[in-house]
Amino acid sequence: MDLKTLKNIPDLSGKKVFVRVDFNVPIDDEGGVRDAKRIRHAIPTIKYLLEKGVSQIILASHLGRPKNNEPHLMTNKVADKLSDLLGQEVVKVDDWGEGGIPEAKIVMLENIRFHPAEKSKNEAERDEFGKHLASLADLYVNEAFSNSHREHASMTSIPKYIPGFVGLGVEDEVEKISKAIESPEHPLVAVVGGLKADKLNAVHNLMNIADKILIAGAISYNLRKLEGYNIGDSKADDEGMSEMADLAQGIINSDKVELPIDAVVADAFSEDANTKVVNIDGIEDGWMALDIGPQTREKYADILSEAKTILWFGPVGVFEMEAFSEGTKAIGKVIAEADAVSIIGGGDSAGAVKKLGLSDKMTLVSTGGGASLTMIEGKELPALAILKKH
Ligand code: AMP
Repeated sequence: MDLKTLKNIPDLSGKKVFVRVDFNVPIDDEGGVRDAKRIRHAIPTIKYLLEKGVSQIILASHLGRPKNNEPHLMTNKVADKLSDLLGQEVVKVDDWGEGGIPEAKIVMLENIRFHPAEKSKNEAERDEFGKHLASLADLYVNEAFSNSHREHASMTSIPKYIPGFVGLGVEDEVEKISKAIESPEHPLVAVVGGLKADKLNAVHNLMNIADKILIAGAISYNLRKLEGYNIGDSKADDEGMSEMADLAQGIINSDKVELPIDAVVADAFSEDANTKVVNIDGIEDGWMALDIGPQTREKYADILSEAKTILWFGPVGVFEMEAFSEGTKAIGKVIAEADAVSIIGGGDSAGAVKKLGLSDKMTLVSTGGGASLTMIEGKELPALAILKKH
């Protein structure tokens, strides 16, 4: 994807730069930051801008899912955390610059989703807010890959009014994902797990580009059901599947696709349920498949160990419970050890890799589940499309 990047800007000195970041960090009831990873992620871009002599950096982020401008979702503590990490003052602005912006070098606006126009379905409303935000600065930078599949005012409207660029983190992430899907080293092997049937859209596109697609998680039992197997009480996204019936049929017919051959089944969705390992044709009523079994682990591991490019989207079992985490642990370990480019989708897969302590062994752990999955589906991200070179 040919994007306009920060390095394309010939002269930043004296410029006011609006940077849309993703500081949607986990917070406690008082608004305290529990994990600053997302804030740290934006620091190289902030430092780059400071080194190039910009006159002001105006930061904006969403935080949580505000309904009623809840005080603990205000960005004050996030601004304080950034200030600690940078060792430099970050001034919190209590609105979105309607009352003017203080002279400080770095300012942080209020939670952008407190403003009703940010997520408005009405483009004109979003653009009106975006135009106001654009009036605060000379240039716009998107350093929020994770929100780039969304048409929100701070993502897609501001760059209609001032020149827009991607930040260093977005540039790196998009480059790595694009390379893995557009010009991968083969064999390209994808592991697709998780619960929601909408991942089948990604599988559908992967059938064009991957050499093997290893399906696991709840969606794999949905597909086994379609083949006629009894899946007992396994969690099945029947509604999601019914919307994708044709697509699902194409997937089970593809010789690129592998489905689990055995499973760890449980008699309840609980850590202390009774469990046993059964072949895929041995799932009885009253039992649910909550992890891949040892034969599937071995088969998938063999295929992955030969791969040169690996994409992993979604845990292969209910990894949050120890009893059903063996599959996800095994797959994570093989991917980390493989001599391959490894791209881990955001969300639960990123969480699993982090829990396993394997993040540093991967080529990229995506900052955005929905955004990276959209790229794997072969679709354009609207907030990046608007920042393309023309
Ligand atoms: P998704 O948001 O679609 O990536 O789904 C992630 C969730 O899928 C995680 O919370 C896992 O616990 C869950 N999951 C993975 N495998 C299974 C399974 N066999 N049955 C039920 N849930 C699963």
